[in-house]
Amino acid sequence: MSRVAYVNGQYVPHSQACVHIEDRGYQFADGVYEVCEIWNGNIVDERRHLDRLERSLRELSMDAPMGRAALCMIMREVIRRNLVRNGLVYLQVTRGVAKRDHYFPPRDTPPALVITARSTDPRAADKAAEAGCAVITVPENRWERVDIKSIGLLPNVLAKQKAKEQGAKEAWFVDAQGNVTEGGSTNAWIVTKDGTLVTRPAESGILRGITRQVVIELAAREGISFEERPFTVEEAKSAREAFITAASTIVMPVVRIDEAVVANGHPGAISRALREKFHEVSELEAL
Ligand code: PLP
Repeated sequence: MSRVAYVNGQYVPHSQACVHIEDRGYQFADGVYEVCEIWNGNIVDERRHLDRLERSLRELSMDAPMGRAALCMIMREVIRRNLVRNGLVYLQVTRGVAKRDHYFPPRDTPPALVITARSTDPRAADKAAEAGCAVITVPENRWERVDIKSIGLLPNVLAKQKAKEQGAKEAWFVDAQGNVTEGGSTNAWIVTKDGTLVTRPAESGILRGITRQVVIELAAREGISFEERPFTVEEAKSAREAFITAASTIVMPVVRIDEAVVANGHPGAISRALREKFHEVSELEAL
């Protein structure tokens, strides 16, 4: 089966999909994006992802490429044409194509829109989660507006590549106070020795993850005690459990942080339960 992408009004073979060399995304990373999970023939938390997309656009004074209903329809069409039942749909909006100039282009420049979808293997993902993953820690070096889901991801790329070279899946950024902010493409969590779930408040230093929000709701439903507060690398290393969350990995247990093994080196019970029950709480929209 050959893949299909949506690019500025057209469905094109993925291998031939391209944007103009003066697309503001290509020139300046002047764009935003979203990634939604597709699970069992459903789009997961579509409403919340599109709410966040609209917020990101607003924060950057960027126009939406079209209304929400049209966007939802094209997302579905891309997913359908790629025969995805389990996987990811990716959506990127940039400030459009214009002569290279830092100032915003003329107001009538249409935003550019790209949507792709691809299948993933849920059994392979579950197997990886049974083993858990390693993370490394790196100094925070990103701009302050990480609450905007911008396509400007160079620090994240470099941090995650460093993690990969050290046999880890993710890199946790650590701020000047020694607190973990978040991962290169995930939010960071620990479970303390007394069984309290902890994640950093979303007011600063992190992207307000949609998966993070759903996990908070799931924890409340399950009666798991929860605290929103910063935590240090040292606290994480001696925690009972640690895990990361994102639409692309749901809940992924962390079993090593730098050289420190977390607890007994196996995924903990709370991380496993949150992963298993995640889709009972997330919003599922049938394709
Ligand atoms: N933090 C960063 C930096 C991310 O890039 C992502 C996802 O891409 C997340 C957190 C998790 O967000 P979500 O749960 O909405 O996928």
